[in-house]
Amino acid sequence: MLKRLLPVTAAAALAIACTAPAFAAGPQLKGQAPGWYRLQLGDFEITALSDGSIDLPVDKLLKQPAEKTIRTLQNVYLGVPLETSVNAYLVNTGSKIVLVDTGTAGLFGPTAGRVLANLKASGYSPEQVDEIVITHMHGDHIGGASSTAFPNAQLRVDKRDSDFWLAPEQVAKGDGAKAIAALVKGFADAGRFKPFEGSAAGVEIVPGVKAVPAYGHTPGHSNYVAESKGQKIMFWGDVMHVAAVQFPEPAVTIQFDSDSAAAAPVREKAYAAAAKEGYYVAVTHVSFPGIGKLRVDGKGYDWLPVNYSTNR
Ligand SMILES: [Zn+2]
Repeated sequence: MLKRLLPVTAAAALAIACTAPAFAAGPQLKGQAPGWYRLQLGDFEITALSDGSIDLPVDKLLKQPAEKTIRTLQNVYLGVPLETSVNAYLVNTGSKIVLVDTGTAGLFGPTAGRVLANLKASGYSPEQVDEIVITHMHGDHIGGASSTAFPNAQLRVDKRDSDFWLAPEQVAKGDGAKAIAALVKGFADAGRFKPFEGSAAGVEIVPGVKAVPAYGHTPGHSNYVAESKGQKIMFWGDVMHVAAVQFPEPAVTIQFDSDSAAAAPVREKAYAAAAKEGYYVAVTHVSFPGIGKLRVDGKGYDWLPVNYSTNR
């Protein structure tokens, strides 16, 4: 019975498809869904916030032969320039709200600068942010730190980084450096700029969130760690930049590093600890939401992106 019916039904469907008017015609809409992603971590709520993306000529930036970079990217269906995510993260501990990095604001062109809009789209308001913690003072991390946009937040950064980037000879180097100094001044004038002395034991920002030194990419580059009920996430800032290259080969460095010789072992140590302990890491320049875990694979590591969840 079923056998006899099927061809007739298919023919009828085809006839309808051929004669139906094109109700669905319209312009392609472009754009992307609002860039936020939620992860429950014990009692803490983590919200990844996309700042957008920037095209990076990583073949020229990574310190290895360009052909090698291009070959590695081609192996995973990527090329140059490499569209590179810029991510920030919000931690709600239940009693405090901490923003880890702030995106670029206007400093890197129109394809980025969306942290504030995505923070609002995710249901939070900038007035709720108690602490802005900065991994390091490059413009794609501190660019969105406006004292007026975040009227109740303190700005926290390792003093080694602020001492370096706010030194008069550094500020004199260009418009980007001046813009960053002006952002910090906004917080300082309001009594809300609170640099901290880094410590290997960690510096508590709020209960459950602390800063740990990861000096190398910049003089005071810091990671932040949030822990709740035995679950842990590390915010890596610029411990690494190009997933396709630097997970399999942690020794490959990048021109953005203030001190590549110091940055490489920091990266290798961070990878090894994350793989051993199995905690989440959240990385500024890994494809949004940039949250995942690491697994040892030969001499390098595999990146295991977080499983998509709608029910936690
Ligand atoms: Zn960066």
